[in-house]
Amino acid sequence: MRFALVGLALCLGSAAAPQQVADSVAPEASGTGVFADLPAGLAASAEAKAQGRPVAADNWMVAAANPHAVQAGADVLAAGGTAADALVAVQAMLGLVEPQSSGLGGGAFLVWYDADTGAVTTLDGRETAPLAATPQLFQDETGAPLKFFDAVVGGRSVGTPGTPALMADVHARWGNRDWASLLAPAQQLAQDGFAVSPRLAKLVAGDAARLATSPDTAAYFLPEGAPITVGTTLRNPAYAQTLAAFADQGAAAFYGGAVGKQIIAAVQGATGNPGVLSEMDLAIYQVKERAAVCAPYRGHEVCGMGPPSSGAVAVGQILGLLEGSDLSAGPLDPEVRRLMGDAGRLAFADRGRYLADSDYMPVPVQGLLEPGYLAERATLLGGAAALTEVAPGNPAFDHALNRADDASIELPSTSHVSIVDSYGNVASMTTTIENGFGSRVMAGGFLLNNELTDFSFRSHRDGVPIANRVEPGKRPRSSMAPTIVLKDGKPVLAVGSPGGSRIIGYVAQAIIGVIDWGLDVQQAVMVPHAVNRFGTYDLEAGTQAETLAAPLEAMGFEVNARGLTSGLHLIAIGDDLQGGADPRREGIAYGE
Ligand code: GLU
Repeated sequence: MRFALVGLALCLGSAAAPQQVADSVAPEASGTGVFADLPAGLAASAEAKAQGRPVAADNWMVAAANPHAVQAGADVLAAGGTAADALVAVQAMLGLVEPQSSGLGGGAFLVWYDADTGAVTTLDGRETAPLAATPQLFQDETGAPLKFFDAVVGGRSVGTPGTPALMADVHARWGNRDWASLLAPAQQLAQDGFAVSPRLAKLVAGDAARLATSPDTAAYFLPEGAPITVGTTLRNPAYAQTLAAFADQGAAAFYGGAVGKQIIAAVQGATGNPGVLSEMDLAIYQVKERAAVCAPYRGHEVCGMGPPSSGAVAVGQILGLLEGSDLSAGPLDPEVRRLMGDAGRLAFADRGRYLADSDYMPVPVQGLLEPGYLAERATLLGGAAALTEVAPGNPAFDHALNRADDASIELPSTSHVSIVDSYGNVASMTTTIENGFGSRVMAGGFLLNNELTDFSFRSHRDGVPIANRVEPGKRPRSSMAPTIVLKDGKPVLAVGSPGGSRIIGYVAQAIIGVIDWGLDVQQAVMVPHAVNRFGTYDLEAGTQAETLAAPLEAMGFEVNARGLTSGLHLIAIGDDLQGGADPRREGIAYGE
């Protein structure tokens, strides 16, 4: 391994530390039970996760949120497929077995390391606002913002899906397997049926009232009016049919074909809250290749997704603000948490002011990550107490600027996939339909996103425009932070997580866990979370993070204990590959 493994005692101050970390995060289903019939290798991965150990492999690895999806990716990689091929198989399967988080009705960002050229590039498969959308999309007749779920549920929040186009694009660029063969396992399982996982059952039960608002969605998740239960066999023939069309026609099935027509009919026909998405929006949709946004951190390059995501800029800012500080006392040290928390607040202040779709709005990416700018902002962290006021800074910017601070609401769902193939390519993809179950509207056996609610509902503040306001064709600002960390030009870590705008804190902490705290990837995933975005310090309930409450309060922070359900999937790349999967969700890492 490239990273110095200095042991958990460093951060937790006790010989019993590994077990304490393991105990500190309540595991969701660990890959047994409804996944018990999976092959032995995957069961061993689930066992490693339950014991707090990373999974090791020599040639390739895949880490994703559901064992069926990991299996689909592993089969492709074992047969000599690339990370791009595996990504297609994994995404097709996630759309079936983890439908609440991502799928063909959503959008995704991919960070790709190409082993042949050494280049890191990013693909933007984010949803777009319909051409007919206006800045008032989420306002009532008086101009007041709608209530969040009034905006989410129905057709209004649905943006043009980008995930099918992204899948086809990555395959065309970097795949070497037959396209249809990558979709076949998910197609088969959709026909045969899969056992409903504990997490899916729990989330369906908790969302039954909203799922009931759309007839197709209700019929699938609430058959005969009752939520599907753990272990029930769920068949999805409509999804199998969609995958058959996708296999046959490629992305054209969506962006001009029959599946696309189903999407538009569902959006425009949504009862109570129809949307304006049209076939034209599908026809003109494009995946965009964008330069990776890379930030230095302690001899590494941390590369990720730039605008329309705020992910790489905010993660890079947090790390840059902390570069001059010693964090080695570990995640339970109040002073370390003061620094991390206020670095997060400073980054979020800039994010709220400056980050949006850079095709619509100049975004000062370089200015925000410029070492001199961050060093100056870091002087604000020099005291001993919480910052009493946090305002956006003034990064170097070559455009006239008048922006108001943003007011987007973001709640967690989403999924992250990390893959390393036997050729040395690395894929880090975060994929989403936004809220759990998205818009709750289904078409073709998959849920449609509510990504448009990632826009600011307000378009202006005191007459000043908000960068992330709705505009026709624009991509809503994201927090997704799929990341590849490089050292000396070589990839050493693939990482990402779901979690709404807390993604930024989760990813930054995981990187700090590996680089500063010397943790292996599984330990880094298991560190209790403490996330500060807008001033309130969220501490992960039921974990050792709660011991930080009193000292952080004494420093002047407002603290709040709550569930913090990240879904981190990490792969460290060194002499071998090591994978870690988040015990807060159902995923595993597996490799050979
Ligand atoms: N829609 C969110 C974003 O793009 C992600 C939602 C989540 O992670 O739960 O930032």
